[in-house]
Amino acid sequence: MSRTERPAADAPAPVAAGVLSLRGIRRAFGDHVVLRGIDLDVAPHEVVALVGASGSGKSTLLRTVNLLEPIDDGVILLGGADVSDPRVDADRVRARIGVVFQHYNLFPHLSVLDNVTLASRLVHRVPRADAERRGLELLASIGLADFARSFPDRLSGGQQQRAAIVRAIATEPELLLLDEVTSALDPELVGEVLALVRSLAEGGTTIIMATHEMAFAREVADRVVFLDAGRIIEDAPAREFFEAPRHARTREFLARFR
Ligand code: ADP
Ligand code: MG
Repeated sequence: MSRTERPAADAPAPVAAGVLSLRGIRRAFGDHVVLRGIDLDVAPHEVVALVGASGSGKSTLLRTVNLLEPIDDGVILLGGADVSDPRVDADRVRARIGVVFQHYNLFPHLSVLDNVTLASRLVHRVPRADAERRGLELLASIGLADFARSFPDRLSGGQQQRAAIVRAIATEPELLLLDEVTSALDPELVGEVLALVRSLAEGGTTIIMATHEMAFAREVADRVVFLDAGRIIEDAPAREFFEAPRHARTREFLARFR
């Protein structure tokens, strides 16, 4: 099926239960097939860890969900609606999803508070005073209220990543995508960022996080999805994934972290 053909009317209807459903997502860069038919469902308040070797397709998959990456085939349902339909306004879809990448998250020429309030003000049309009140609350909740008027370069890497995370949730997105948000940080700064992710998870934010932090995934994720060369090899409750992985590839992968 090409990207432009919709599923036939008699094709099985995708299940539209959760926040996100992916069906048969395929993506190639030239001859290099990076996503080979990804099916994934994420329920409200669920925290899904996406793990796999470097190059397995984690970032491409997250970018796909946020419509930053075109797909060659498949369907993306957000809140039950098909957002992979080419007629859909991608900006409106992105406004419903929070994203934090590995680095270069904050706009360097904007104050920390302007970073946090930008999407609320420009995309969601929240009045500046309301957006700033909320933004200051969020910054206070992560101990950064004093840096509200500073530029991002005054913050440590860990503080910048935490500000990027509260920026991503300031608009109360339906889904938060985190792509290795700690892997560019000095080791001593990782803990404070993970603590923030943990508190969001506990607060009920629906999260998909690509991560190499296996201990953290085990502790915080409800489910772990293991991606290997563009395929989901294993998708299991976190405890089961780490204690009784079903597939040899999963065991090989986990052995690298022991
Ligand atoms: P991961 O995040 O798991 O490390 P990625 O999704 O970044 O994996 O990459 C998966 C594969 O897709 C890699 O082989 C990578 O080189 C390739 N890839 C990613 N983006 C592009 C691109 N824009 N052009 C060509 N190849 C790409
Ligand atoms: Mg990646």
